[in-house]
Order: sequence, then C-alpha cells, then structure tokens
Amino acid sequence: MNKKLLDEMNIQINKEIYSGYLYLAIAAYFEDQNLAGFAHWMRMQAGEELEHGMKFFDFLVDRGKRVDLQAIEKPGSDFSSPTEVFKQVLEHEQYVTSRINLLYELAVNEKDYATQVFLNWFVDEQVEEEKNASEILGYLERVGDSGNALLMLDQRLKSRGED
Ligand code: MG
Repeated sequence: MNKKLLDEMNIQINKEIYSGYLYLAIAAYFEDQNLAGFAHWMRMQAGEELEHGMKFFDFLVDRGKRVDLQAIEKPGSDFSSPTEVFKQVLEHEQYVTSRINLLYELAVNEKDYATQVFLNWFVDEQVEEEKNASEILGYLERVGDSGNALLMLDQRLKSRGED
C-alpha cells in the first residue's frame, strides 16, 4: 500500500467517525423536536458509522499498517426541519460515496487487489445509504414537515432495527 492510499484510508476512518458524530448531532436535534422515531433512526445510523470506521481501522491493522487518528471536526448544528436535515444527509452520503470511489481508484491504480475487495462492501453499502436517505427525503418532500404524515413516518422510523 503506497503512502497516498494509506493516508487516504486513515482519513476515511476519520470521515466515517465524523459521519457518526454528524448523525448523533442530528439525533439530538430530533430529540429536541420530540421526534423520537427520527432520533432512534439517527442513533442507529450513528452506531453503524462507527462500525464503518472500525472496519477501516481493522483492515489497516490486518495489513500491518499503522493507524493514524486525526481530530474529529465539530458537526454542524443548523438543522431547521426534517426535510432540510435529510437533504444534508443525502448530500453527506453522496460525499462519502465520492470518498469510497477515490479510494477504489487509488487501489486500482496501485493494483492493490486486497484493498479493492475490502472496498467492495463499501461500494454496495453506499448504494444502500443513498437509497435510504433518498426515500425518506422523497417522502418528506411529499408530505411536508408537520401533521399526521410526519408523525406516521416518525412511527415507522422507530421500528428500525426490529426486523
Ligand atoms: Mg459510512
């Protein structure tokens, strides 16, 4: 693994843990809005992001590389409505997808097959992450940020992790 790829893999640990931090900040916003289902969904999402960070951590350890942790950026707090939040989530996941694509490109250029195989899981995962965010955003854009339809979605999001 060349230095450029190793540096970017280390940065990705930071990006995944930052994602978890961002989703926890969003969970705090939803708790404040008394939207317990949205908050639950974001707490679970935050937990998954920490697991993503650990996948990169463990992969570098398994390859005999030194993990180099960076400072975690403060997440934003200007969350104005559920619709605006999910726009931000979708944009953030699209950014993470671009990061995974960058890592993949570096691994391909270096003919690092083990890293390509490792990254395949993340390529699939990003399709799923963008799909989930898009679906919820699409629903919110149809029904708006208040009323019974919002509360129905809150109920639905509360059941994440039960199936
Ligand atoms: Mg992730």
